[in-house]
Amino acid sequence: MTEKTHFVKPMHRYEVDDLDHPLMYVNKTGTDLIHDPILNKGTGFSASERDEFDLVGLVPPRVVSIDDQISRVEENYNRLPGELEKYIFLEALHDRNETLFYRVLIDNLEKLTPIVYTPVVGQACQHYGHIYRRARGMYLSSGNRGKFKKMVKNWKRDEIDIIVVTDGSRILGLGDLGTNGMGIPVGKLALYVACAGIYPSKTLPVMLDAGTNNEALLNDPLYLGEGHHRLTGDEYYEMVDEFIQAAHERWPMALIQFEDFTNNHAFPLLEKYRDKVLCFNDDIQGTGAVALAGILGALKITGQKLTDQKIVFLGAGSAAIGIADMITAGMAEEGYSLEQAREQFWFVDSKGLVSNLRGDTLAQHKVAYARDEPPLTSLMEVLNKVQPTILMGLSGQTGAFTQEVVESMNRYSERPIIFALSNPTSKAECTAGQAYHWSDGKAIFASGSPFDPIEYKGKTLVPGQGNNMYIFPGVGLGACVCKASKVTNSMFYAAAKTLAEMVSDHALSQSNVFPKLSDIRDISAKIATAVCEVAFDEGIANITRPADLFSFVQKKMYRPYYIPYAKI
Ligand code: NAD
Repeated sequence: MTEKTHFVKPMHRYEVDDLDHPLMYVNKTGTDLIHDPILNKGTGFSASERDEFDLVGLVPPRVVSIDDQISRVEENYNRLPGELEKYIFLEALHDRNETLFYRVLIDNLEKLTPIVYTPVVGQACQHYGHIYRRARGMYLSSGNRGKFKKMVKNWKRDEIDIIVVTDGSRILGLGDLGTNGMGIPVGKLALYVACAGIYPSKTLPVMLDAGTNNEALLNDPLYLGEGHHRLTGDEYYEMVDEFIQAAHERWPMALIQFEDFTNNHAFPLLEKYRDKVLCFNDDIQGTGAVALAGILGALKITGQKLTDQKIVFLGAGSAAIGIADMITAGMAEEGYSLEQAREQFWFVDSKGLVSNLRGDTLAQHKVAYARDEPPLTSLMEVLNKVQPTILMGLSGQTGAFTQEVVESMNRYSERPIIFALSNPTSKAECTAGQAYHWSDGKAIFASGSPFDPIEYKGKTLVPGQGNNMYIFPGVGLGACVCKASKVTNSMFYAAAKTLAEMVSDHALSQSNVFPKLSDIRDISAKIATAVCEVAFDEGIANITRPADLFSFVQKKMYRPYYIPYAKI
C-alpha cells in the first residue's frame, strides 16, 4: 500500500471577490447537465438548482459541500494500490466533474502533478489502449485525411484558447507510442488550467495519428490507433498542414502547442508555422526559457554576466538547441551579436563534438552551432579544451556526468553551473548528491526531475527543478489574453527573465535557482503579463492595452468553484 495523500482544502479561497461571475446561465437540465463534466456539480447541486434544472431524484438527497466532496475523493484516492490506478481514478474525475477535479489538482499541485503528468502519465500512455475509458479531445488520423475541416466542426465548442497537439512520435523519453500519446496533450492541458487558469472548456487535446512504427503496438489487438507504419515525407507534412488549416479556420484565435514530435519534424514544423499561426513548441522554446531562467538565477549567485559564460551541452536535440537559442537571445540583450553568442557554445552529441570538420552530414538544427574545430570524441576532451563555466545535460545518458567531469568543472570556476536536465530521474546525467559531493558543495545544480535537498557540511542545498511547467502555462495565458497573432522568442525570453526575478534570496542562499512551484498561479500571471507587454511592444496584440495589465490578466484566470446556475 502506498503512503496516504492528504488533500488540503483552503476554504472559500476561490469564491472571494468574484463580482464578474455572480451567476452562470445554463441551458441544460437533468441527465444532460449531470453528464456534462464542465457543468456537473454531482452531489453539490443546491436544493434550488435541483428544482430548477429537473435534477430532483437524479442525485442522492443530501446537498454536499465541495469540501466534503474533496474528502470523498481523498478517501477513494488513498484506497488505490498503485500510481496508474490513481491516474485512472483522477482522469475519471476529470471526465465527470471538472470543477472538483481542478479544485483538487490546484490545491495539491505538487502531490498530484507527478500522477496527472510526468512521470505517471508516461505509464498511462504505454497502456493507453488497455486503460481507455472515454474519449477526450479529438483524433485526426491518416485514414480521415481530406476530411479534417469537416471533422473539426464535430467539436461543438466555438471558443478554444489552447490546442495541444502531438503525433505521438516521441512521448517523453519513451519513444514512439502512436495514438497512445494522447495522454500527453490531455495532461498538459490539465496543467494549463491548473497553473495558469485557462478555462477547461476552452482547451482541446489533439492526437494527429499518422501511424506508428512501434511494432508491439501494431501487434496489440487493443491498440486504438491507425494500424500502419508512420507516414513519411510529403504525405506526413501534408497531413499536419491539413490539421493546421482546419484548426486555424475553425478557431482562428486558438494557440496551437506542438508537443512531443521527434526532432526531425519538430524544428521544420516550428519554422513553417511560427509566423503564420499562433503556435509554439514547448520541447524547444519552453525548455529554452526555463533553462535560461535557471542560468539567470545562478548568475545572481555568481555575480557574473551571461556573456561571461562558456557553455558545453551534452546532447544536441530539441531541448539543447532550444536552450542555446534562448541563451543567445539573452546574450543579445547584453550586446552580443548572434555570431559572438554562438561562439560561447560547444555541443557534444552521440558522435562527439558537433563540428564542421567531423565528416558527417549534420542535422539541420545543429548546423548553426557546429564549430570549425577538430572533432573531439569524448566529453572530457571537450571540457579540458573549453574549460566551461556551465555544463548542460540533455542527452538522456544516465550518469554521463561522472566524478571526473564534475571535479573538472569545479576546477574551471568557483561555482560551476551544472544542469542535468534529462528526464526521468533515472536518466539524469548525475544526481544532486553527486553534483554537490563531487564539487565540495559548490555546484549550482538543477535537474529536469525533482531531487530531494541534500545536507552537505552543515548546509542545506536545494536542487532546482527546471520544470517546463514554470513557463508554458504563463506564455499560453499571456498570448490568449492579449489575442496575440503569434508567439515570439522575445515572449519566451521575457518569461525566463520574469521567472528568474521571482527566485527568493533564501532560495538562492541554498543554491536553488527556481521559485516555489506552489506559487505557480502567481508566477503564471506575472509571466502572462510580461508576455502581453512584449505583444503590445511588438504590435502583435489585438486588444486595447488595459491600464492595469496584471489585474486584467488575473481576472481572466479560471478558478474552480461552484458558481450558482440560472436558467437562460
Ligand atoms: P532529442 O532526442 O531531440 O535529443 C537527444 C540528444 O542527445 C541528441 O542530440 C543525441 O545525439 C544526444 N545523445 C544521445 N546519446 C548521446 C551520448 N551518448 N552522448 C552525447 N549525446 C548523446 O531529445 P530532447 O527532446 O532534446 O530531450 C533530451 C533530454 O532532455 C530528454 O531526456 C528530456 O527528458 C530532457 N528534457 C528536459 C526538459 C526539462 O528539464 N525541462 C525539457 C525537455 C527535455
